[in-house]
Amino acid sequence: EDTWQDEEYFGSYGTLKLHLEMLADQPRTTKYHSVILQNKESLTDKVILDVGCGTGIISLFCAHYARPKAVYAVEASEMAQHTGQLVLQNGFADIITVFQQKVEDVVLPEKVDVLVSEWMGTCLLVRAVVRAAGGQGWGASEHRLASGRPPQSLSHTPLSCSITHWKQTLFMMDDPVPVHTGDVVTGSVVLQRNPVWRRHMSVALSWAVTSRQDPTSQKVGEKVFPIWR
Ligand code: SAH
Repeated sequence: EDTWQDEEYFGSYGTLKLHLEMLADQPRTTKYHSVILQNKESLTDKVILDVGCGTGIISLFCAHYARPKAVYAVEASEMAQHTGQLVLQNGFADIITVFQQKVEDVVLPEKVDVLVSEWMGTCLLVRAVVRAAGGQGWGASEHRLASGRPPQSLSHTPLSCSITHWKQTLFMMDDPVPVHTGDVVTGSVVLQRNPVWRRHMSVALSWAVTSRQDPTSQKVGEKVFPIWR
């Protein structure tokens, strides 16, 4: 049995629905657009590899703004069929070549200079901020995008006005945990890959609340949340 569940995984990316959702994600797509635009000088005359190109949007940004020598756009799902058409219809067939293959398997005609990719999955726990205020709690995070000059970031905080297609996950405890002003809350967030099903994760939260009134009193708890991709 395929513990990577490639059929299910690439099957879902073979449908237009998911790609439409990603393209329509304004903060996401405009961020990638501006990163490519800001770094266009470093892409000119270069050989670029787009890992998991989907509809080819990042490859198209590169070809449109930077005049690279070549762009190799690798996409394992059936979407690659459409991507070839999109490249052709946008007039970049001379620059962008689409490979319908897994990046692990693809054999490229030459060495590449630059790698571009939108690889972020559904389980982002890059930086978590947990705030407790009047019984409310939230986790906030952001994607850090590596790029030539200013490191860019893409915010996912639930407080931001622009929401991304990644949205947020709320980890609900079974019972409310009472916390009073001055109490000290400590704990951990442990993200682990499922030992069998490689694309599945679990998040284990553990917490301890030490009372300010009575520092010898500590309430502890933990909960494990399975995250199916
Ligand atoms: N770059 C596109 C799509 C991002 S979604 C965009 O920004 O809109 C990620 C894509 O990577 C999916 O289409 C998925 O099928 C593809 N992908 C994931 N793992 C891959 C792999 N190992 N080889 C090739 N493509 C892969």
